[in-house]
Amino acid sequence: MGNYYNTGEIMRSYDIRPTKSLGQNFLNDLGVVREIVSIAQLSKEDAVIEIGPGLGVMTSMLAEEAGMVVAVEIDTKLLKVLEPLKIAKGNIEIINEDILKLDIKRDIIEKYIVPNGYKRVKVVANLPYYITTPIAMKFLEENVPLLESLTFMVQKEVADRMTAGPGGKEYGALSVAVGYFAEGKTAFKVPPSAFTPRPNIDSAVVSLIVRKTPPFELKDKDYFFKVVKASFAQRRKMLTNSLANAPYLGVTRDDVTETLEEIGKTATIRGEVLTPAEFGELSNSLYKKRG
Ligand code: SAM
Repeated sequence: MGNYYNTGEIMRSYDIRPTKSLGQNFLNDLGVVREIVSIAQLSKEDAVIEIGPGLGVMTSMLAEEAGMVVAVEIDTKLLKVLEPLKIAKGNIEIINEDILKLDIKRDIIEKYIVPNGYKRVKVVANLPYYITTPIAMKFLEENVPLLESLTFMVQKEVADRMTAGPGGKEYGALSVAVGYFAEGKTAFKVPPSAFTPRPNIDSAVVSLIVRKTPPFELKDKDYFFKVVKASFAQRRKMLTNSLANAPYLGVTRDDVTETLEEIGKTATIRGEVLTPAEFGELSNSLYKKRG
């Protein structure tokens, strides 16, 4: 077996066929699994939430490094692989649910993690690619108590967008949102050959360290995210047009021009040049002017 997990053999012996629509590309490269786990910097003081344990290859390693693992898997057919692993390890809980339907605080933290005495939570997951961004944003936006970091395997292109700074074509609403909640960096790239079946894209592992305090003050967080969304909705347009054309912001072109001048920017700029903090200033000022 060497450095490879016999993913194909396990699927055959349990009679499991991967479900494409659930993003089931299982890791077969134990070196990659080890690297993901080492990036998460786990200790026995940590509780881990794993999203989509699949055949349990990473779950097993997480259970060795962390105090406990709560694994959320939507696919009931995988329980026949995961239940024996749970019994063998003794520190794994399995929740057979859709992660997007759970209230992370109520259904995971307060139910499993706090009663077991853990004070630190780390999320580690090889995410199902069809819902990467909603899952990442759910954990960042829900203000999950005790959450310290998220180590995610995602599509390379999404990893680039999550960690991009202003100016480039990868920089967008996702980069600003991730940057507001966390300090992110792309840790390493992973080729399709690390998975069974192989996806037809490259993947990458991102490490997001959750900020303890916001990097800048916002008058209204929802309004900030609406401004960011409108700023990138039509990337080729000037900000004055994009923002004045978004009725839910309640501002005129003059409001936007004036605000940009206040923060030392010209009226002709596009959203992609502003840093997250400048979006903060812009939205705070527009918030006061909105009709
Ligand atoms: N962790 C395993 C590995 O690395 O081999 C499997 C990763 S696979 C890319 C994604 C996993 O997420 C699958 O097991 C899939 O069934 C599960 N999944 C898909 N959608 C889900 C959802 N909404 N909630 C929880 N798990 C989900």
